[in-house]
Amino acid sequence: MSQTISYKDILARHGFSFSKGLGQNFLTNPTIPARIAEGCGADGETFVLEVGPGAGILTRELGLRAAQVTALEIDERLLPVLAETLAGMDNCEILLSDVLKADIPAIVAQKSGGRRAVAAANLPYYITSPALSRLIDSGCFEAVTVMVQKEVAHRLAAKPGSADYGAFSVYVQYHGTPRILFDVPAGCFTPRPKVDSAVVRIDLGAPRVDTLSESRFFEVVKAGFAMRRKTLRNCLSAAFGSRLGSDGLSECFAAAGVEPSARAETLDLAAFGRLADAIELRLRKD
Ligand code: SAM
Repeated sequence: MSQTISYKDILARHGFSFSKGLGQNFLTNPTIPARIAEGCGADGETFVLEVGPGAGILTRELGLRAAQVTALEIDERLLPVLAETLAGMDNCEILLSDVLKADIPAIVAQKSGGRRAVAAANLPYYITSPALSRLIDSGCFEAVTVMVQKEVAHRLAAKPGSADYGAFSVYVQYHGTPRILFDVPAGCFTPRPKVDSAVVRIDLGAPRVDTLSESRFFEVVKAGFAMRRKTLRNCLSAAFGSRLGSDGLSECFAAAGVEPSARAETLDLAAFGRLADAIELRLRKD
């Protein structure tokens, strides 16, 4: 259906100029939005929250599959464009809203009608991590499917021991299971970005590791990756040395069964969990 709409012509007719600052690289290849909509799990029982509808090319494909779509767009210049491209799509609603400020749980509660909820977006590059974190932290979605820069996609899905594995990989994999669905070449967008993209689906659920304290877990992860070339012992001394003392820190490594000379990028989530719990128990004792 979307093949019959010329998004470029409609944007031109509205005198629209792309904003680099808002990460406005719009999809122009019609097959990609359909594949994202298929891949995100939208069906007749589903509510979809979209971030950044742009001219509505993905919104329309989501609307053709989902029960209800609500899309958050920050740029009010796009509202008349969207009114035209989504004409007749009664299950698609646009909210003029900044995803970094929106009350996502309230929007989902109000708009989903109690349906299972998923999120989908061709995310603006300049807010990839905070926008993705807000979607995940909202606790509203069964799955979040996003198009991001290819290198970011590889970081999200990276396994321990690889160069791409870092604090954001651990954060995403703590909350869910990421899967790269497919790559999207730069030529599929207008204007053409400098790098290729990829679509990642993250299936969300209960935390993948049981820990005594989630905030301690992420404090340890952040500290561990703060100085990538240093050993975990060095990294954690900087963060916890004054609270645990040198012997206390050694005991935590021993209790967790983690080598102090290891580097954070070699630790899987379970090992981070054991280390965080050992530190938490030790701090509670003191
Ligand atoms: N979904 C469209 C597509 O695939 O062609 C547009 C994607 S474009 C990469 C990102 C969109 O997000 C733009 O429409 C931009 O205006 C919007 N946007 C940028 N920052 C935003 C924010 N903080 N909150 C909501 N939308 C935002």
